[in-house]
Amino acid sequence: MTRILPGGTVGILGGGQLGRMLAFEGRRMGYRIGVLNPVENCPAGQVADFFVQSAFTDSQRVFDFVSQVDVVTVETELVPWRLLADIEMVKATRPSSCVLALVQDRLVQRKFLQDHRFPQTPFVSIKDVTSLESAAQHVAFPAVLKARQSGYDGKGQIRVAIPDHLVEAWRELGEVPSVLEAMVPFKLELSVVLARSLHGETQVFPLAENVHRQNVLHTTRVPAQVSEHVRLRAEALVVSLAEAFDYCGIMTVELFLLEDDTLLVNEVAPRPHNSGHFTYGACVTSQFEQHLRAICGLPLGDSSLMHPVVMMNLLGDLWQKGPPRWDHLLANPQVKLHLYGKDHAGPRRKMGHFLLLTDNPTSGLHMAENLLISLIPEPAGSV
Ligand code: AMP
Repeated sequence: MTRILPGGTVGILGGGQLGRMLAFEGRRMGYRIGVLNPVENCPAGQVADFFVQSAFTDSQRVFDFVSQVDVVTVETELVPWRLLADIEMVKATRPSSCVLALVQDRLVQRKFLQDHRFPQTPFVSIKDVTSLESAAQHVAFPAVLKARQSGYDGKGQIRVAIPDHLVEAWRELGEVPSVLEAMVPFKLELSVVLARSLHGETQVFPLAENVHRQNVLHTTRVPAQVSEHVRLRAEALVVSLAEAFDYCGIMTVELFLLEDDTLLVNEVAPRPHNSGHFTYGACVTSQFEQHLRAICGLPLGDSSLMHPVVMMNLLGDLWQKGPPRWDHLLANPQVKLHLYGKDHAGPRRKMGHFLLLTDNPTSGLHMAENLLISLIPEPAGSV
């Protein structure tokens, strides 16, 4: 593939906040950005050079869009892999349809990890009531039942305390093809964002330590508070994963760290990731710039951390009592605010995030929690 230099056009399938930040970075670098998304006024469409509203299944519109760009990428793994397979017949497409096919179905992803001997929690495929009956023989409880398709941020998954609750959980999930996984008693959740160029060069971002609330990412602290030994093993693991996928672009691997320092893969995301938002403000090169460099056939940038940092997500619940007090947050000179341009602040909807640059990420976590509280507007009439 010839290199695509600034001035060229990058086409993004999907219009969420990841596409928006990719578009910001791309435009800063001098690329033209096109976005195709089923819903109009989406976060990425607002900041693109051009936007096409289209279902991913409308092949005429999709291929018209593809004809206007030099390279195609995705900002969500929910883009159908078969569509990407058709696109890559006519246009450079990164990551490839093969990667999407391997990750967008949880069972296929788990089997791929198993075949390549990557460590993960025991799992079993659930396709009907009969498979529910034998599930407890393969997986210890408590367990978590996850729909194979379309799950994210804890959607499409239910925790199951004992085998007797399994049938009820499966009904609640809609009796869809699923994967039952043993719950992992992790001491930490980590993620590693990695960039791999078209020529196989890799750059690994500093290890991120994540806290989830109700299965949605709440905070990321960087650098993660883990030993050098754990860090090196995590880095080696994700590099070999990227090689197994013959990956090009940004890939994120969510990991569980157990008491005995065993690392297990939770899941792989074939795109920039929420837990990598710290890179956009605290690293020499952001995950978005790395992705663009990789998919455009350019050398990667430096992934080093310039400053320790805490990232905190801002969910729609924060808007419940009125517009958040941005003046309080921005009074702190070490804060960088990102809002995604979403007009409806639904519960648990990701509306934005902020970074807090801090010399001590441990006390920084505490400070970020206080900043979050300071955003809640005072009730009318209070002094
Ligand atoms: P996922 O959508 O698979 O990334 O799950 C969202 C969050 O649920 C994870 O970040 C974990 O906090 C939790 N979770 C998911 N699967 C497991 C598991 N097998 N064991 C323990 N916690 C899990």
